[in-house]
Amino acid sequence: NKFKEGLSKTRGAFVDKVEELFLRKKKIDEEFYEELEEILIGADVGVHTVLDLMEDLRKEVKEKKIEDAVALKPILIEKIVELLNTGQSREIKLLENELTVILFVGVNGVGKTTTIGKLAHKLKSEGKNVLLAAGDTFRAGAIEQLEVWGERVGVDVIKHQAGADPAAVIYDAVQAAKSRNVDVLLCDTAGRLHNKVNLMNELNKIYRVLQREIPEAPHEVLLVLDATTGQNALQQAKLFKESAGVTGLVLTKLDGTAKGGIVIAIHHELNIPVKLVGLGEKMDDLQVFDPEQFVHAIFA
Ligand code: GDP
Repeated sequence: NKFKEGLSKTRGAFVDKVEELFLRKKKIDEEFYEELEEILIGADVGVHTVLDLMEDLRKEVKEKKIEDAVALKPILIEKIVELLNTGQSREIKLLENELTVILFVGVNGVGKTTTIGKLAHKLKSEGKNVLLAAGDTFRAGAIEQLEVWGERVGVDVIKHQAGADPAAVIYDAVQAAKSRNVDVLLCDTAGRLHNKVNLMNELNKIYRVLQREIPEAPHEVLLVLDATTGQNALQQAKLFKESAGVTGLVLTKLDGTAKGGIVIAIHHELNIPVKLVGLGEKMDDLQVFDPEQFVHAIFA
């Protein structure tokens, strides 16, 4: 399946090494723990997360008097699934018979526009009436790129000129969505992050405009992160979590990276659920994130 295929690089860098360690070491000793720690950190699971995970494993080994390395494999898998199961919903919140507004935030190049296109396709194929708002008026080509996706998927795009006020675009998009009986409005935003104050001001203005029209909007704020940037993605997530009221994460480009372990670090350190993952550049390459499926795809 696609999930398994898309995660092959992570499997190669992480699980193959773990398997090799289990086979080679046979017995659990200090050296075994150290090597396992190194492999996990190398796969971008993150130092804090790895240390907590190792503590859990040691405790379990002691309690159950486990000596053989291979016996640790199912426990490691179980612990990772536990880390990923935050108890929060992975579903994208969609209102019934009412307009749902979803805002996409994240720095340039992470895959925001592509993700909006893919999600529009997914929602449309589920029978939803979808509209896109070209709120990234800053990045050169962002508006055109969204229009290309709109055409490809068969949904309309509300846009202004490049450089226009994003909040004005979002305002127009909400008016259009209301008059056209749209179910879901997907809003792109600019990824200016060189200055946190700027980012917050721009997003706050969009929130104000939205909330004047629809008090509960935005119903979702999805932060898009590029998995290939590893620990950097985690730093971005921390910044946006503080300033943007993020309700869920989208992790893109998992297909192109051995750093899939970042999924685990993000859950452990931020406690925001990864809702969607990108596994390629095509329309169908977007999947709802499922922890069990993820772990079994990499350990398969
Ligand atoms: P934005 O600046 O955040 O809007 O980023 P874009 O949507 O323009 O994406 C930047 C690049 O990443 C493009 O070349 C996309 O095709 C590519 N991309 C986006 N998502 C994925 C993914 O899940 N997998 C892969 N391999 N490439 C992706």
